[in-house]
Amino acid sequence: KYADALSIIKNLWALSQENNLHFAIKLTNTLEVKNNKKILAEEMNYMSGRALHVLSVSLAAQLQEDFHGELPISFSGGAHAFNLVDLLKGGLSPVTVSSDLLKPGAYGRLQQYYLNLWRSKEEEADYWKNTDQEDQLDYLKNYAQQLLQMEDYKYQIFESKDIKSQKPLNSFDCIEAPCMQACPTEQDIPDYLHFAAQGNFNKALDVIYQNNPFPYTLGLVCEHSCQTKCTRINYDKPLRIRDLKEFIALNGEASEAQALPLNGFSVAVIGAGPSGLSAAWFMALQGWKVTIYEKDGEAGGLPQQIIPDFRLQKEKLRLDIKRILDIGVQIHYNSPIDTLKLEKLSKENDYVYFASGAPKSKSLNIKGSDVAGVRDSLKFLRDYNLGIEVNLGEKIIIIGGGNTAMDVARTANKIKNKKAQVYVVYRRSIAQMPAEAQEIKDALEEGVIFSELLTPVEIIPEQGVYRLKVQKMHLLTQFGDDGRQKVAPIDGEFDFLEADTIIPALGQQAFMPTLPFNNMKNLYVGGDAGRGGSSIVQAVADGRLFAEHIFDLEPFGASLRKKQSKEKTSERKHLKDRNTVVNSSYPKNASVATFLEAQQEAARCLQCNEYCNICVSVCPNRANESYTIPAQHYRVQDIDINDLEFTIRPSHEVKINQEYQVYNIGDYCNQCGNCSTFCPTIGAPYLDKPQIHLSRISFEESSRGYFMQKDVLLKKEKNNLLKLRIETGKLIYEDENVEVVLTYDDLRILDVYVKKEGEYKIELDKIVEMKIMLVYVFLEKQKLFG
Ligand code: SF4
Ligand code: SF4
Repeated sequence: KYADALSIIKNLWALSQENNLHFAIKLTNTLEVKNNKKILAEEMNYMSGRALHVLSVSLAAQLQEDFHGELPISFSGGAHAFNLVDLLKGGLSPVTVSSDLLKPGAYGRLQQYYLNLWRSKEEEADYWKNTDQEDQLDYLKNYAQQLLQMEDYKYQIFESKDIKSQKPLNSFDCIEAPCMQACPTEQDIPDYLHFAAQGNFNKALDVIYQNNPFPYTLGLVCEHSCQTKCTRINYDKPLRIRDLKEFIALNGEASEAQALPLNGFSVAVIGAGPSGLSAAWFMALQGWKVTIYEKDGEAGGLPQQIIPDFRLQKEKLRLDIKRILDIGVQIHYNSPIDTLKLEKLSKENDYVYFASGAPKSKSLNIKGSDVAGVRDSLKFLRDYNLGIEVNLGEKIIIIGGGNTAMDVARTANKIKNKKAQVYVVYRRSIAQMPAEAQEIKDALEEGVIFSELLTPVEIIPEQGVYRLKVQKMHLLTQFGDDGRQKVAPIDGEFDFLEADTIIPALGQQAFMPTLPFNNMKNLYVGGDAGRGGSSIVQAVADGRLFAEHIFDLEPFGASLRKKQSKEKTSERKHLKDRNTVVNSSYPKNASVATFLEAQQEAARCLQCNEYCNICVSVCPNRANESYTIPAQHYRVQDIDINDLEFTIRPSHEVKINQEYQVYNIGDYCNQCGNCSTFCPTIGAPYLDKPQIHLSRISFEESSRGYFMQKDVLLKKEKNNLLKLRIETGKLIYEDENVEVVLTYDDLRILDVYVKKEGEYKIELDKIVEMKIMLVYVFLEKQKLFG
């Protein structure tokens, strides 16, 4: 209907000119589109963001061409800080943004808009001074064409559905770096990025080694779930954490690893894969005698045997292994273990860690899957790594959607003959594949064809080839427990795919001997042997967890262990050193090939375990506010009341460590939920944080929160009214049952006045929150505003 629209606009413009009125058009807040995916209930959806940007800019370019660049167009479709300059250079003005300012950074992002524009005006001064409508039209047409090719505007396979962690939200101390929570080894990512940003790659590598003895390997092939949760996703791009780890491993020099003298205890480790080696490293460092029994002639486990060289160069893996073995770990190669040997090792050692991996492929249990053309995926990858040639024919089908499936597909694609074609068949959609997004992209770019929503049901041999019968599937509107959209067969709809070779890559399973656990109380199973095919980083984490668990066990206890001296979050001041690091603005073509690039990329880290305040920045009503408190520690007491008698008993410790805390202002909050959307936890700041009220009316209308009435703090809690005040240097707590006098500093109970008879208990940990609200929020506000 473009022609109709054009004629309407022309008529309106002519009319406005006749009447001496200004005329302009606006493109476009949202675009109504048919709801094909049926994720939402309505028949129509509203398109916005990146997709709308491409369409609206194309439309703007077309309109301007028809109006010879003279039509005033105001623009908003998917505008943000990074495309603002292009829009203005194309003559679209004014540009309006809204949802971009509801994201983390919020109004603070305006600085980013300004800086980008200012930079362009400095660097392209000539364009801004001398440009005319014709230049702007050319620029706009060009930009519309470029958008079609730009990665950021293409359909993307996102690494993660959302970046929230599973951490609940509490009244205090909510700050935790999401990347660390997502990392199975709990790697202190912000800490090593801080040192990398300062150019101190040696110290950065030492930090990495505190939790992970595989920096070379994991710098290349870690599934990097840390990056899928990086707070920077909300601002521009996630930190390239894995690439930085590789850079640090290659360019940093770690302190010499020194094991403590032997402490008289020993552990036997079965399997020299990532999990066994990781356990060996952490235990040997603490003075344990560690002996590894490896069934093959080389250490490294599945990564060594099956990950193709184009993903993991084996010399890098060997560097990790060498450092582990060099601290005095004994290893016996070609030493397979059976039950008898295991029992012997159990008697001879204090502990046995069974980490033999998951070396068996899961089989494809469909009719005809035993034909000769069906190959074992792990054997195929092992053969490739050993240089054994394999003839796959011309039509090669890989079944599966995980990383192993991508390794098999990409390997097959490299060794196939020129005319051959590799296909990946997967029962769900590409977006739901568990493989790393980058692996999927690489496979697609290398020419592998993906056939999604097809479930194999039978293999039929026919005239020298195989016909793979597949059931067609479709996406349902419901989501499963794993967060993925469910799929179901389409009744009676099948397809037949021709193949010379079929390689199912459906995951791995452990090959477990029957372990006599009852006779061997000191036997632990970990890594893939326990999980049945997981990730390398998870296996490494399991090895460390095993070691930590053993260290904590009696009779070994803490005395046998040299604790790592880790700085606590509240004591770290990396953010305050920010001015000493290189400029951390978003580099457009992020790369970490040089020292400067690595420093620049690391400097983009926001140090999320020191500071968050996302809920503060995203609130359009400024209803969440940040305040600072010193770290504090209380041993709270409870009171048991019996008639008018009372007994004071110690309850538990309450520790508040972090400097920055948040409260919600009930008067301003309209419960829109935007802070919950962007909070990195699963909590809702406007509900989970303490709420204060500035006016009595707001306090009275609300079911919870604090209000300061003269010098008494009131708290509404489940329809009860609690009070706290300071009197002669003491704190006086009062509710309908009791009045309690407490010391100001450590909240020790000095006296209790029982107001109501009966048998009940008063839990006083709530006083900690009340004291903090009284002292650090209301009294501070009074100091400031009277
Ligand atoms: S910005 Fe830094 S601390 Fe925050 S999630 Fe990303 S890597 Fe971790
Ligand atoms: S729910 Fe309240 S505090 Fe949260 S963003 Fe909305 S108005 Fe602000």
